Amino acid sequence: MTQTRPNRTLGPGHDDFWAGCAAGELRIQHCNACDKHSWPVFGHCEHCGSTDLRWQVMSGKGKVVSWCCFVQDYYRGVMSVPYDTIMVELAEGPIFMSNPADFAYDDITFEMPVEVTFIDAEDAAGAFKLPVFRKA
Ligand SMILES: [Zn+2]
Repeated sequence: MTQTRPNRTLGPGHDDFWAGCAAGELRIQHCNACDKHSWPVFGHCEHCGSTDLRWQVMSGKGKVVSWCCFVQDYYRGVMSVPYDTIMVELAEGPIFMSNPADFAYDDITFEMPVEVTFIDAEDAAGAFKLPVFRKA
């Protein structure tokens, strides 16, 4: 079932991220100058400022390091409340914000292992694959 979501950020860099999701890949920018991941998508490295970035496919594995349940309708009816949001520390290091796929707030424990999966979603720009996380 396709889920309606808030509009994605699109454009240079972001389009490459979403193309990765469409291919079943969770891609994170990696800096060739300082050899660190740089996330979220930006035109230069968050660590050293270099614009020499490339995409690196993550393993999709990680652990939940923070979570919350939103009860405020920030997206004005686009997403039904309440909904759960998680912060996942990817195995490669970056922190990725997402939603749980097959578990809920009360099931979460600190550093619970998870892995990425991609669900069908749509926004004003059309259909896309959204990276969410399931129990590993
Ligand atoms: Zn750098």
